[in-house]
Amino acid sequence: MTILLSTLNARYTHASLGLRYLLSNMGDLQPVTRLQEFVIGAKTSDVVERLLAHQPKIIGFGVYIWNVEETSRVVAMLKRVAPQVVIVLGGPEVSYEPQEQRIVQLADYLVTGWGDVTFPALCRQILHGPKPLMKIHAGAQPPLEEIRLPYSQYSDEDIAHRTLYVEASRGCPFKCEFCLSSLDKTAWPFDLDAFLAELEALHARGARLFKFVDRTFNLNIKSSLRIMQFFLDKLAAHPDDPVYAHFEVVPDHLPDALKEAILKFPAGTLQFEIGIQSFNPNVQTLVSRRQNNEKAAENIRWLCSHTQAHLHVDLIAGLPGEDIASFAAGFDKLVALGPHEIQFGILKRLRGTPIIRHTDAYGLVFDPYPPYSILATDRIDFASMQRLVRFARYWDLVANSGRFAHTLPLILRDAPFAHFMALSDWLYAQTDATHRIALDKLAALVGKWLRLQGLEKEAEAALANDYAGQAGKPGKNAGKAEKAVKADAAALPRQQRHAAA
Ligand code: SF4
Repeated sequence: MTILLSTLNARYTHASLGLRYLLSNMGDLQPVTRLQEFVIGAKTSDVVERLLAHQPKIIGFGVYIWNVEETSRVVAMLKRVAPQVVIVLGGPEVSYEPQEQRIVQLADYLVTGWGDVTFPALCRQILHGPKPLMKIHAGAQPPLEEIRLPYSQYSDEDIAHRTLYVEASRGCPFKCEFCLSSLDKTAWPFDLDAFLAELEALHARGARLFKFVDRTFNLNIKSSLRIMQFFLDKLAAHPDDPVYAHFEVVPDHLPDALKEAILKFPAGTLQFEIGIQSFNPNVQTLVSRRQNNEKAAENIRWLCSHTQAHLHVDLIAGLPGEDIASFAAGFDKLVALGPHEIQFGILKRLRGTPIIRHTDAYGLVFDPYPPYSILATDRIDFASMQRLVRFARYWDLVANSGRFAHTLPLILRDAPFAHFMALSDWLYAQTDATHRIALDKLAALVGKWLRLQGLEKEAEAALANDYAGQAGKPGKNAGKAEKAVKADAAALPRQQRHAAA
């Protein structure tokens, strides 16, 4: 084998879309190019051994915020045991500020930005000469119709066991300063007919779980409607073998035509990820995020109350200008709207993003190591930020997991942020841990905390309902839950638990 394309995915179920784009666009080099994916946590020497077993001349690594440290170790070891192998890096983590990065120093070449055209051209030069003079190659950005679509590179095993990432467009027209997509300044659509033909082929091969990585699926409503209709047609034709689609949407743009389409999706077939990030207008202005908060809230409420879509809504703590009280107000507002999950993220300084322009004025202190999380701001000190980090972790375990669906309202009551923060502080004091807490131990602790709040009777009933295996089994919404579970062979278990609550 001459060329290997490799990366360390965050999980086995995440099949790398980027590597499959590269493989599709290798042209005459495609027959001598292979994919070799790993999962983070793999032993460095095992990764290196498996890569070298192919006797590659070139290895191209996809480098991301979640794998940069481990990939650095892999590249360092490769350069010691097989210095003749040419290492080419690409991916968002190394596309900005490359001079500061150890992994770039270790590698032979770097392609920044889009690699679809530039990576194969660089490989040709490396293999056939003349030797490339520059180490860093800015990725060319061709018209999208010149990029070969990658979907036939999903193997039967990928289709059977992994999430299939797809994209109908690249880029984003918005400019939120904490986000790498803000640098795109626009969005570029792929040819929709060609894209839908690829989805059709994947579906015919058995694919049922599609995750769209388009940054803003509902930007072009005509395209969104055609894509949704594709899934609705499949659902109508194969009701016993349903598809499941995940889209990222902006919350303040849901025209009636889109709403009508959303209403037609049965339970367990549609998921939206909705970025709110902050409800504070001053913070939004500061980070250049354009959002109509009233419209966004109205649309989330409508989605929760009228549709069967599963909603993940994102909030970010630690943005410049946001203090705990302002974050708490946004959190409570969001809880009241009723999304199934609130993804509570901590601000990260992604390389290349303009958020750092606020560093001095707002006292932003970021961890210098990946994932570059915010440690403190002028409004949230380090200790308070740590409490927020733990809140996020416990929120995932207790609320987003769906395992405490009947108990959660009892915890949150009339002040969701304040009460959950109290629970979070108490849980940490009891366990000194935010990971590896067994479910039965967590349930016992939640019950104890509720008893301390004087809610003994209510806690007992709610926990019995949740923890004694009742979530997902017959209860007051049993019919709905059973329907959802039946209709959705592909739905994640925690979504089924949310549906059952
Ligand atoms: S946060 Fe979302 S809307 Fe804002 S720039 Fe990034 S992808 Fe676009």
